[in-house]
Amino acid sequence: MRKEVPPWSIRGKVRFGQLYSGELDLAKGIAGSWEWTFKKLPQVIMDTVNGYRPEFIEYLKDVHINTFHVTFSNGFGIEAEKAQRECLRPFLKKCHQYNIKVIAYLDSVNIFWTSFFPDHPQAKDWLQLDKDGNPIHYGWLKPVPWRYRACLNNPNWINYQKQVIKLAIDMGFDGIYLDNAYLNRTACYCSCCRDKFKKYCREKLAKECDLPTEPNWSDPIWQSFIEFRYETLKEGLIEFRRYIKSANPELVFMFNALGPPTTMFPATDQTMRAIDTYALAKIADILYFELGFTFPRLENGRLISNIESLKYGISAGNGKNIAEKGYMPGRIPLTPGQVKLAVAEALSFSCTFNVYNFSCQEAQPMLEKAKIRKALAKYYGFSEKNENYYIGTEMIADVAVLFSRPTQDWYCNDREEHDYPERRGFDQALIDLHIPFDIIQDEAISQDSLSKYKALILPNVACISQEQIEQIERFVKRSGGLIATSETSLYDENYKKRENFGLARVFGVGCKEERFTPKKSEYGKGKVLFYAQNIGRDYWLKQKSGDLKSIKEALEWVIEGGASLITTAPKTTFINLLKQRERILVHLVNYNRDEKSERMIPVKNIKIQVKVPVRVRNVFLISPDFEAKQNLEHEIMHKEQDQYVKFIIPYLETYNLVIIKLL
Ligand SMILES: [Zn+2]
Repeated sequence: MRKEVPPWSIRGKVRFGQLYSGELDLAKGIAGSWEWTFKKLPQVIMDTVNGYRPEFIEYLKDVHINTFHVTFSNGFGIEAEKAQRECLRPFLKKCHQYNIKVIAYLDSVNIFWTSFFPDHPQAKDWLQLDKDGNPIHYGWLKPVPWRYRACLNNPNWINYQKQVIKLAIDMGFDGIYLDNAYLNRTACYCSCCRDKFKKYCREKLAKECDLPTEPNWSDPIWQSFIEFRYETLKEGLIEFRRYIKSANPELVFMFNALGPPTTMFPATDQTMRAIDTYALAKIADILYFELGFTFPRLENGRLISNIESLKYGISAGNGKNIAEKGYMPGRIPLTPGQVKLAVAEALSFSCTFNVYNFSCQEAQPMLEKAKIRKALAKYYGFSEKNENYYIGTEMIADVAVLFSRPTQDWYCNDREEHDYPERRGFDQALIDLHIPFDIIQDEAISQDSLSKYKALILPNVACISQEQIEQIERFVKRSGGLIATSETSLYDENYKKRENFGLARVFGVGCKEERFTPKKSEYGKGKVLFYAQNIGRDYWLKQKSGDLKSIKEALEWVIEGGASLITTAPKTTFINLLKQRERILVHLVNYNRDEKSERMIPVKNIKIQVKVPVRVRNVFLISPDFEAKQNLEHEIMHKEQDQYVKFIIPYLETYNLVIIKLL
């Protein structure tokens, strides 16, 4: 599929798992302030140290995990980590005998100084420093005294990490994973960063600047500082990738940059941690998303899911694989039903869940529970057996929602709109309405790749460049639909205010005119609908059915000829359409379950119509929830120039896959 990605790591091929264990993870747990997750029993402590024992590999085999991720280095220093490496050697060997690929975990910036400094005294100069020159500690809630963060702009740290990576490569690991691959929320003021920023400004702003300390979102120096940080992270990761690939191009490189701006981390966090998933996706072979708060479930009847993140990731990685690490808020070990749902959600994108095992966590690792293994064996076994329906798939989408990074970085941060709610509301509405959509970023507009969509949504995309405006004008003129809201195009990409909407001609209304909302208009052959208010934000925050109805009518107005999917499925069922040569794949995931009793609330008789480009040979359904393949009766319907295949899904427990074979 993609030449630059090792063939074994593509979407559809990987069934991912992970075990944090060995003495390094016990030490990290204690010195890294995760001790609250330990079950304080001698046996649990012993099991933690001895997690990488051969019997554990039998579990992996049983549940069809084929790619496994183990702790190789936590930042204690090369000498101090020797015993862990020796303990992994036989584990790695046995995994390879079972054809299980093993990825080595390293921390991208961690220094546990109590063992690191005696081993590497020069490392005192590798640390990230705050503006007063004090070392920056790791810590989400409060600084952890034993855990420093090294600076990715320090070449000596990069060289040290390469030595550790080399140890892993020489031992025969199949890939390298870097954890904590994002910047600290507060900047680093070490001499490397200061000098590098001066040079950056000399080139960009033609003057030398010091690292700023206070945000000013419209100030070119602050903006350069934010861009500089994005570049810094990218450069560090690119350097690691180059090093790994020059040793062996078949090795997989992946890292934890948390995930797209759709997860638990709001806009400010994305900006201040320099997480530009779209850019970072180009550096990884498999994207790794740490998605916690969005673990798939219903909350007061509302769908909480990773659908947005997965859509964003597929588009950012141009179809690369995604492994999502999910845990329930509070980190309670997952139940079998939760495991099924999480795997199903990832599978509906041909991606993989990461079965996350942390030995010392409250209760034993998930894979030591027979019920979890049974659920996982069923689901991973299903995806292994039916691998050909998951490889080489592409998304079907009628609509593109633009995620605008300048709008997030400058406009949203300036207003403390932490999760860019206008955009999230439109994503949620499209999911609830079962309209197939992609989430695209600024770059996709500039590349004029809009033509495959019937409509574009600009959810208060305040900051947009002149070039993008022209691309959008051309798209609408040629019959593309457009929905835009609020202050869309009122600023340029550097947050400089325009006198009028850059897209005023297309909207048919200027920013100073009295605005009847929503305003329908036509531009060239395309239909346009402009909302003066933030209807997406309203829907996101209040979930009012009136707002959803209004968005539905807007979509019906702008999508020429109707959507690719028409269904009676409830909002608690997610349907994803993918295509392969000669096949359309309809994935159905049911989120409706009673969390307490673990009881699924099945959905019956879901009517589905899918637009098909050619004649249909047959339609059938498979599922890990039952054994036999079911042939589905189908009917062909014609609507104007389009042709739909119509069928009924009799029963959906957690996950069904419908295959429409084309002639
Ligand atoms: Zn620095």
